[in-house]
Amino acid sequence: MPQANAKLNAFPVFMRVEGEAVAIVGGGEAALAKARLVGQSSAVLRIIAQTAEAELLSFIAATGAVHVAAAYEAAHLEGAAMVFAASGDEALDRRVAEDARRLCIPVNAVDRPELCDFFTPALVNRAPVAIAIGTEGAGPVLAQMLRGRIDRMLSPSLGALATLAASFRGAAERLPKGTGRRRFWRDFFAGAPARAVEAGEFARAHDAAVELLVSDAPASGHIALVGAGPGAEDLLTLRAHRLLMEADVIVHDALVPEAIVAMGRRDAERLPVGKRKRCHSKSQEEINALLVELGREGKRVVRLKSGDPLVFGRAGEEMAALRDAGIAYEVVPGVTAAFAAAADFELPLTLRGVSSSLVFTTGHDLKGNSLPDWAKLAISGATVAVYMGRSVAAEVAGRLIEAGLSPDTAVAVVENASLGNRRRFHGTLADLPSLEARADLAGPVMTIIGDAVAGANFERSEPLAAHRHEDTASATAEGVEQ
Ligand code: SAH
Repeated sequence: MPQANAKLNAFPVFMRVEGEAVAIVGGGEAALAKARLVGQSSAVLRIIAQTAEAELLSFIAATGAVHVAAAYEAAHLEGAAMVFAASGDEALDRRVAEDARRLCIPVNAVDRPELCDFFTPALVNRAPVAIAIGTEGAGPVLAQMLRGRIDRMLSPSLGALATLAASFRGAAERLPKGTGRRRFWRDFFAGAPARAVEAGEFARAHDAAVELLVSDAPASGHIALVGAGPGAEDLLTLRAHRLLMEADVIVHDALVPEAIVAMGRRDAERLPVGKRKRCHSKSQEEINALLVELGREGKRVVRLKSGDPLVFGRAGEEMAALRDAGIAYEVVPGVTAAFAAAADFELPLTLRGVSSSLVFTTGHDLKGNSLPDWAKLAISGATVAVYMGRSVAAEVAGRLIEAGLSPDTAVAVVENASLGNRRRFHGTLADLPSLEARADLAGPVMTIIGDAVAGANFERSEPLAAHRHEDTASATAEGVEQ
């Protein structure tokens, strides 16, 4: 809890510097750091350094900053709006600070808070939006950490959105004060105009904002089909994370871990919709209808799917339903399970001279007499990633061997790829059928077959064959999405 009497000793303000001179005294790393920071503004940099390091010189050359290549004198500070004493020489920095003060110019001395009139913030720059983080000089590392966190939360296109907002300020003033105007801005920053800016479609953003101004209809909804990745929280993309934090409703599959769903807003509605093998909580048609309904209600929805939404994720059907209903949607890719499993095994999915193609399959299409295309590819050397492949492991192995793939072909299996409780198994195609009977694997399983698998690191994996015959039926979490 913040202390009731906690007062800031430094008060943040945003200083106008457009076209103003900002003087930096020093020719080393500290001066360069300040030059880079202030260089994010439209101030005219004046760098006072008799000798400057190469990197600072190239910064000066690249930015057109003024370089005063002379021994420091107080006169060099004249007319500046701000001064930075960054020479690294204590006596000189002190002199600079005293001169600046005499000239009534606010001064900052690097690493000497006692000489500072102001502190420089860590800066998240989405011009014209700026977020300045200050710790009163106490914790630059803390400030940088916070900067990183805030930076990740904000869309890279926030600046462009703010610029567009500024151009609508006049028009918005004509809306009734209070709720009407507030609603306009909320829908502007969280609705269609914001999404169009994010997609780089500025004309459409403008039109969407005009539409908001003139229409009384509630804001239209939007569905993001988002890949949650294979399970580890930090394998979520930044975009997925941001959309999660903005969503009113999160509709998620069973394979998406609670920790990821919990990254959404605390007041967001969370709707689990299955599906695990043998316990579908909602049919695909019901899910499609639910998404359409939420879109019609004007909700911002994240439809969270494990891995990548376009890989065995039934996204095709959901997109078709949304398109038919005229509801806006977008797709955010995720790290698919095959990639996570390969990473866990340090397994090259393509390997020079060994395998130059990669097949994503489920192996559930092997029932007929004719060999599916992917099996032919496997025989000609492709690496094969089998999703939901546990219950068809024997069939996959049998058909591939029958078709001519060597029983010695390397196979890698990962349960719970990317997660702390992952398990790795290695063996050959001949060992693969044993997977079906294993009762000890309750998580999702990825199987990778091919000669490239031989390039994996088997150090932390168990032999697949060890469990060859076991008759306990397995309770699987295959997540039938195909
Ligand atoms: N869209 C998902 C796949 C959904 S199908 C993706 O791109 O990854 C579900 C199958 O994905 C599971 O049966 C399993 O084969 C695989 N899978 C998903 N997460 C996994 C994980 N963490 N480890 C291993 N396999 C996983």
